Amino acid sequence: MAEGKTVVIGVPKETFPGETRVGLIPASLVTLKKIGAEVLIETGAGFAAGFTDDEYTKKGAKVVSRDEVFSSADIIVQVRTYGANPDEGKADLGKFKKGQLVIGFGDALTEGDKVRELAETGALLFALEMLPRITRAQSMDVLSSMATVAGYKAVLIGADELPRMFPMFMTAAGTIAPARVFVVGAGVAGLQAIATAKRLGAVVEAYDVRPAVREQVESLGGKFVEMELDTEAAEDKGGYAKELGEDFYKKQRELMTRVVAENDVVITTAAIPGKKAPILVTEEMIKGMHPGSVIVDLAAERGGNCEGTVAGEAVMSHDVKIVGPTNIPAMIPYHASQMYARNVTTFIQNMVKDGEINLNMEDEIIADTLITRDGDVVNPRVREVLGLATKDAAA
Ligand code: NAD
Repeated sequence: MAEGKTVVIGVPKETFPGETRVGLIPASLVTLKKIGAEVLIETGAGFAAGFTDDEYTKKGAKVVSRDEVFSSADIIVQVRTYGANPDEGKADLGKFKKGQLVIGFGDALTEGDKVRELAETGALLFALEMLPRITRAQSMDVLSSMATVAGYKAVLIGADELPRMFPMFMTAAGTIAPARVFVVGAGVAGLQAIATAKRLGAVVEAYDVRPAVREQVESLGGKFVEMELDTEAAEDKGGYAKELGEDFYKKQRELMTRVVAENDVVITTAAIPGKKAPILVTEEMIKGMHPGSVIVDLAAERGGNCEGTVAGEAVMSHDVKIVGPTNIPAMIPYHASQMYARNVTTFIQNMVKDGEINLNMEDEIIADTLITRDGDVVNPRVREVLGLATKDAAA
């Protein structure tokens, strides 16, 4: 490391209501030290996730006040930057320094006004949900990490709400049939849900519009549900689902009705990036389910896949419970923070060497995530959403 060069990374406590995660964990310090970084952590920042100030101190961090975090850091690491924490986050706006890097979830494509306000502080926002889904960025992919946590927890919520047990039991009191679980959408969260439900002993079926997913479902022991739907146009270049139009969804709902009725737990995870989630389970379909069945709608925050879902609540519909959990990763903050911190650390390693920040705009990991710079919104995708003229982000 070049003599004397240090980059200071600051971690404030999260202020979004119910947010228990923290941006970096004590173990992150070991890696960050190697690239010439020093870490300042706000008092109590990791506490809700299970990491004490003492543990951070032992790994070499300085535990300081919130004001000191903001005034001394070159890079601020948050789970939720202003866009993803629009109410409480406002209180920090006056604390950012010109040229300071801010890394975290930004909701940059949906919270344009907040992004603009943050831009005005002169800070450089890096919104991690904008990471390109390329092999090199996999170890930084916070969306995959949080989807993993959500898929796992969705099954536990379903199991907890169900008046039945998941595994098959053969007892002196008779044989108990295993629970049946249907997972709609087999992306990162869906695949994790399939794996978790299998581990708990359920019989698992799954469906996704991307045909490539079939093999992955089967390799986890799930049954891929056959549906006669034309899914050729279902996938974009990035491996994401595309919006397929109301005719397609209508046919899908018809074909899914029987499968939904046969299952005890339905976990819906179907999402289209940047769009409202499609309604795939209608009230009519719910009527066909056994009383006591459970739907866990992981798309609740994006409008829901199920008719009647209320984000953040559990509601009854025709004797079926529909759970619409929000911010699931905050329900498992220890491991969610561990995964998040590892992703962020790798992201920082890609831009800091020998205690110096180097923003190589030729690197799509840096270019795609950079949202604000020099007082302006510079990211072309975000500018488009905001209706601003195109601008060269690298300029
Ligand atoms: P997501 O959260 O946007 O969507 C969840 C799933 O819902 C997707 O699998 C999608 O196909 C499915 N879906 C959408 N509409 C549906 C419908 N009508 N019926 C059934 N299913 C529907 O997606 P995600 O989990 O974040 O990622 C999806 C894919 O992106 C991955 O499986 C992978 O191919 C790719 N990916 C790549 C990388 C990387 O290379 N770094 C990382 C993560 C994911």
